[in-house]
Amino acid sequence: MSVAISTTQVPFVDLRAQYSSLADDLRSAVLRVLESLDYVQGAEVAAFEEEFAAACGTSHAIAVSTGTAALHLALAALGVGASDEVITVSHTFIATAEAISACGATPVFIDIDPKTYLMDPSLLEAAITPRTKAIIPVHLYGQMADMDAILAIANRHGLPVLEDACQAHRATYKGRRAGSLGVAGCFSFYPSKNLGAIGEGGAVTTNDAELAARMRMLRDHGQSSRYYHDVVGFNYRMATIQAAALRVKLPHLDGWNLARRAHADRYGQLLAPLPVTTPETLPGGEPVYHLYVIQVADREDLRRHLASDGIGSGIHYPVPIHLQRAYANGETTGALPVTEAAASHILSLPMYAELTDTQIEIVSESITSWCSKTS
Ligand SMILES: *Cc1c(COP(=O)(O)O)cnc(C)c1O
Repeated sequence: MSVAISTTQVPFVDLRAQYSSLADDLRSAVLRVLESLDYVQGAEVAAFEEEFAAACGTSHAIAVSTGTAALHLALAALGVGASDEVITVSHTFIATAEAISACGATPVFIDIDPKTYLMDPSLLEAAITPRTKAIIPVHLYGQMADMDAILAIANRHGLPVLEDACQAHRATYKGRRAGSLGVAGCFSFYPSKNLGAIGEGGAVTTNDAELAARMRMLRDHGQSSRYYHDVVGFNYRMATIQAAALRVKLPHLDGWNLARRAHADRYGQLLAPLPVTTPETLPGGEPVYHLYVIQVADREDLRRHLASDGIGSGIHYPVPIHLQRAYANGETTGALPVTEAAASHILSLPMYAELTDTQIEIVSESITSWCSKTS
């Protein structure tokens, strides 16, 4: 009988480590909901909304079923519809654009800063047209976009800024939390995010009471009271079991984010002597390193080398949205040169709170040996 033995010494993600540390608390939270019979949008969801709003420094949080739903709900509540344009970036997860398309609107992609991979505010004004209805900067990899510059332009044009904070739970920009700077912020609790549910989940944060009320109504079939539907809405309610699990995890988020930051510093020190581009931080920002992304000349070769040493890696993301089959309306390569260059050189290294110093050294040593082999 053969026994499959995992040879991976540093997996790309490791959800078991976090689960093991919280297993008892998670089990009792799940059982509590199971026996409450309060399965959908229950009392624990309302409790989580209060706790999450407080964590983001906003007056409201609206819990929903996914991060994609959060983006769609916020755009719909802002009145984005057919023939509107929403400016965002192409270097992001597809959901940012899908939410715009789901409103019947058109995503307008602008390029990114080559050092931070975030929306380049110097390109924003030129992309604004009379049809522009909103702007979505993405706080990619856990780092917040240059919000002062983006908000200054948006305010000049009277446009709302919606933060895609799906990778940036409790990241800060000049002391303010992700999700608290724009008109609203959208979060995902997909299991591998910095704050992850035990299934799907999402939330929208806002300080705008009217927008919050509109989102609450749209989230639940546009109901003002049971079976009285004022507007055509959606079913974007959160399962109570997810809120209960998220309430177990939320108090640990800062500790996990601190660990991720320390791991990023350690990677930075160990990789500094090598021909490897490591992440750059915008002044005034405190990223939470959802991902740790480097650039090398021959990414595929490094990936193979890491794999042969039992080290997982990822690519976030290999094909920019404007070049995806779903979106390439005759768009040709070269439209967004910085995005396209990044997409062909980036590589994500293992990054999670439970990563050990030894594991970081194993990864760095493997990259060091690859560099000396290829130089
Ligand atoms: C994860 C993610 C989303 C979508 O969240 P889901 O919960 O998977 O729907 C949207 N935008 C970004 C940048 C993400 O990373």
